[in-house]
Amino acid sequence: MNFKIGEIYNGFKLIETKEVKEINSLTLLFEHSKTGAKLFYISNDDNNKVFSISFRTPPQDSTGLPHILEHSVLCGSDKYPIKEPFVELIKGSLNTFLNAMTFPDKTMYPIASMNEKDFINLMDVYLDAVFHPRIYTDKGIFLQEGWHYHLENKEDDIEYVGVVYNEMKGAFSNPEEVVNRKIQESLFPDTPYGKESGGDPEFIIDLTYEDFIDFHKKYYHPSNSYIYLYGDGDILEQLAFLNDNYLEDYDEINMDSSIPIQESFNEPKECEYFYPISNKESLKEKTYLTMNFVTGTSTDAQTHLGMEILTHILLNSPSAPLKKALLDAQLGKDVVGSFDGGILQPVISIMIKNSEEGKKNQLKDIVINTLKSLVKDGIDQEQIKAAINITEFRLREADYGSYPKGLIYGINIMDSWLYDADPTMHLEYEEYISNIRDELENNYFEKIIQKYLIDNNHCSLLIVKPEQGLVDKNDDEIAEKLKSYKETLKEKDLDNLIQETKDLIKNQNTPDKEEDIIKIPVLPIEDIVKESEVLPLELRKYKENEVLYHNINTNGIVYADLLFSINNIKQELIPYIALLARYLGEVSTEKYSFEQLTNEIEINTGGIDYDIDVYGDIKDLESYSPKFIVKGRVLNSNIEKMFELFKEILCNSKYDEKQRLKEIIQSSKAKTEMTFLSVGHKIVANRVHSYYSNSAKFLEYINGIEYYNFIKNLEKNFENQYEEIFSSMEQASKLLFNKKNMIISLTSEEDGYKVFDEKFNILYDNLYNDSINQNIFKFDLNKLNEGLMTSSKVQYVGKAFNIQKLDYKYSGVLQVLKTIISTDYLWNKVRVQGGAYGAFFSIGRAGSLFIGSYRDPNLKNTVNTINRAYEYVENFKTSKREMNKYIIGTISNFDVPMTPWTKGNLATGNYLRNITQEDIQRERDEMLGCNVEDIVNSSKIIKDCIDENYLCVLGNDKKIKGDKDLFENLIDLFE
Ligand SMILES: [Zn+2]
Repeated sequence: MNFKIGEIYNGFKLIETKEVKEINSLTLLFEHSKTGAKLFYISNDDNNKVFSISFRTPPQDSTGLPHILEHSVLCGSDKYPIKEPFVELIKGSLNTFLNAMTFPDKTMYPIASMNEKDFINLMDVYLDAVFHPRIYTDKGIFLQEGWHYHLENKEDDIEYVGVVYNEMKGAFSNPEEVVNRKIQESLFPDTPYGKESGGDPEFIIDLTYEDFIDFHKKYYHPSNSYIYLYGDGDILEQLAFLNDNYLEDYDEINMDSSIPIQESFNEPKECEYFYPISNKESLKEKTYLTMNFVTGTSTDAQTHLGMEILTHILLNSPSAPLKKALLDAQLGKDVVGSFDGGILQPVISIMIKNSEEGKKNQLKDIVINTLKSLVKDGIDQEQIKAAINITEFRLREADYGSYPKGLIYGINIMDSWLYDADPTMHLEYEEYISNIRDELENNYFEKIIQKYLIDNNHCSLLIVKPEQGLVDKNDDEIAEKLKSYKETLKEKDLDNLIQETKDLIKNQNTPDKEEDIIKIPVLPIEDIVKESEVLPLELRKYKENEVLYHNINTNGIVYADLLFSINNIKQELIPYIALLARYLGEVSTEKYSFEQLTNEIEINTGGIDYDIDVYGDIKDLESYSPKFIVKGRVLNSNIEKMFELFKEILCNSKYDEKQRLKEIIQSSKAKTEMTFLSVGHKIVANRVHSYYSNSAKFLEYINGIEYYNFIKNLEKNFENQYEEIFSSMEQASKLLFNKKNMIISLTSEEDGYKVFDEKFNILYDNLYNDSINQNIFKFDLNKLNEGLMTSSKVQYVGKAFNIQKLDYKYSGVLQVLKTIISTDYLWNKVRVQGGAYGAFFSIGRAGSLFIGSYRDPNLKNTVNTINRAYEYVENFKTSKREMNKYIIGTISNFDVPMTPWTKGNLATGNYLRNITQEDIQRERDEMLGCNVEDIVNSSKIIKDCIDENYLCVLGNDKKIKGDKDLFENLIDLFE
């Protein structure tokens, strides 16, 4: 179709079209004639279509209004008047992405699907949600998602309850999140960025229903909307759909949602905040220091990209000079740089973890002096070249893991479009990269350092300090506030409040009407493909070694993964290989200094990574193969160089760099601590499985609590132990990097295989070649039932067991059961009524079953909910149509679009876990054929597993002690 500029297509006037070669697409910018709604289309042959509608929503205060509204509009609309259409879509659509996000200045509602019909269905539900939500007629939505006074009985204490209220309480428990959220507050005191769009629990309770409604009226209007479409859909049909069903009903309004520019400061600012730790934890080395600089505007695409590369050069490349200077001066245990380009005035931040307030002046001096000397002497040219190359490689590869490409582009375009500039600006990176390369001879990076970092007063020094007992103090204040509020209430008010609370609970417990549920469109089950996708896998040989080859179109990239069996080492060395995975590539080799090595990797490859994984045999519970994996990605033409680097790293790394080792141990400890707070549910899940499973216990020594204890000890006794650490790691490396001990997984085109076959000897001939062992690791397994105590305001609760251990067989039915329990029972009980941010049911092909919660204000209640899950399953009833919905939702978890590397990786994993195509097809057949009876019959599996009572909770110390009867062991996680 030939589009003409200025022409009107189904109500939309075409403003501009472009061929954007970087993403192989035609882009079209439209404006809706009647309302002024803006629409940007990226048209190409990708069948993973994306739609999103966004609104500019600058917050006026820190009550979290935009965030609460984001949740609330998804709780029912005129056309879809049920409690949570969003959940119905998770249950029963083929979406490849479905979510909503609140940013500091916009709220975005994106969906994606590879199925045409499904895509339009999802669009329809989302559009009706944002334009015609039920929030106007049902105040209960605001009370449930935002906050409310909760009182069930007259003699009880009143509580604050609300989904966002609890979510943000969780967010503010995590010091790194506190730091990240406060950076903008420190830099933009006079603009919306100075406010917390997600909501600060302290202020959420100030939000009124009236302000909430007014905000929707004002900002959720087509004239303030940014509509985005991506993929191989029919452009005209989609425009007609938008116009006829939604936009046509509106007239353009004049409204101002623009984001003002924050004036620079006369002098740098300094701010200080606190985060909670428990009374037992020491205050030592728990302060976060950050320096933050505002770097121009995001509509200057050249500087935007330049700053991103500069952040890598200065702070994020392993040998980055500013990071090195800060670590050498021992300012903290870890240094992290970040560039936030998603706001009008982007920010570069330098964060020092595990520091002390007293070091703040030293920080300022080192940052400025290091930058000055870099400007004076010039940055190492190799380092610049490396940073530009790796940035370019990643932009071209566009591997965003499980996220649809179109979604990432849709987020990136907002960095200019939201501020009234050209939406394609940040997609067309080639010109900027080439400009930057040309400008190198005129000291491009030295100049932007001078301008945006050294001569820039628009910066802040932010100090976030630990405070003992802060949680208790806040809780007491809240209790006091609620107590005096209760005292102001008359008898009649109390009765009303109790009635209001009861109504809310009743409403939450009342299922939606059947006649309303069927309004949510659902695909016929016949539309679902019956055959499982066959992942490409060919068994080839390189000399004596097995090569798992995945012939996939990779655009000239070779993904080479070397998997070394860990069974060749002695059990005592296990935690040392976990450390080794963090050590390799971060130190010198015989040929290269550490700096040179880093540069060589980034100049010649797309990155080299080290990982440890466990492949459990699905047919034999006791058998699992742990592997140390070296992963490289590289253009065909550079493969020789990559294998030379592999050789250097695996065979010639130096095991005597004491200072580097110390830094790596410190930063690894800091990172592990952070996972306890940010992904506590994963920590709990593996921990509870490790009470009965050898493979889970193995993983405990790799990245769980056992690893944490190990690394904590190494840090403490470093001076006495470092020689032993070195010799253990060196010993482990000799046992691991043995050619007899290796499987190769290769993902590439046939050309890529050819160059691999020709050049692999560069590494191969240098690998060790001694005879190998097959050690079986046996651990002490005990039902520890731990309460892992921190100062966090929320809990992660988990129970688990393996169904095979109770002689049950795994089947695809359990995957459908997972969808049912997660989106229905757990969602209602743990999230909607319990106020937790999330809850999960998971079941692995090898039979490991887990039920748990995420950022949960409760503990015992959730344990009870988990214990009673089987009752819900036992009594499960539903219509054929609803059952189909659950099945489709389940299938959508499996039919996900994959990047080439993900495909290769998954095929290798299946092979090593003894999963055949037959197993996969059987599982799919079982899912597609699943009926209500199958579900009801599985209640016994859940009951028996949960009754085994393997329990682990990570969370608030007071809360855990309050329910200490549930546990065998109470443990203080931090010192
Ligand atoms: Zn949220």
